[in-house]
Amino acid sequence: MRLLLIEDDTMIGRALRQGLSEAGFTVDWVTDGLAAGRALANDVYDLAVLDLGLPGQDGMAVLRQLRTRGDAIPVLIVTARDAVADRIAGLNAGADDYVLKPFDLDELIARVRALLRRHAGGASPLLQCGELTLDPVHKLVSLKGDKVDLSAREFSLLETLMQRPGAVLSRTQLEDSIYGWTEEIGSNAVEVHLHKLRRKLGADTIRNVRGVGYKVCEPS
Ligand code: CA
Repeated sequence: MRLLLIEDDTMIGRALRQGLSEAGFTVDWVTDGLAAGRALANDVYDLAVLDLGLPGQDGMAVLRQLRTRGDAIPVLIVTARDAVADRIAGLNAGADDYVLKPFDLDELIARVRALLRRHAGGASPLLQCGELTLDPVHKLVSLKGDKVDLSAREFSLLETLMQRPGAVLSRTQLEDSIYGWTEEIGSNAVEVHLHKLRRKLGADTIRNVRGVGYKVCEPS
């Protein structure tokens, strides 16, 4: 899952980027509102973590722009503005949740996961597909009850596919979801990870739709 972190405070931004990366998310970080608007318009993200007080363009303006465009990406506001009126304005402008600074990192990550879950239409923290189960919080995958050991990239790929059961995702979509801006991507990196995943889980689990992309399980 790929997140856009919008935060101009270097210390908070670093802590958030590190915490979210360690939790398994791909994180792109921008430090002003205009760059945030551009990133959200040009790249595909699963969620945005949005500070309100930003140079260039206020966080509320970024949010309004996003919703005016009809973009439904979940937005978690993280801000020091603690007045009830600010919170109400943020939620009314289309934010999905609100965390006040100083925040607890683990709680913030739990809220991010809850928003992603809700957005995907699932109440359960587990992703399931036939006899394949993925636990995003504890980073566990099991097939027919047996634990499967996956690398971090393999896990991210599988999570991305299992978030959209039955949908065919192209190599570019998969690349976008697991690599951030700063990472070098080998030309066939995604294929290599998919190949290993299919070897571990069986080619029936992750199907290749020739010339189009890959998918997991049809929704029943
Ligand atoms: Ca700020």
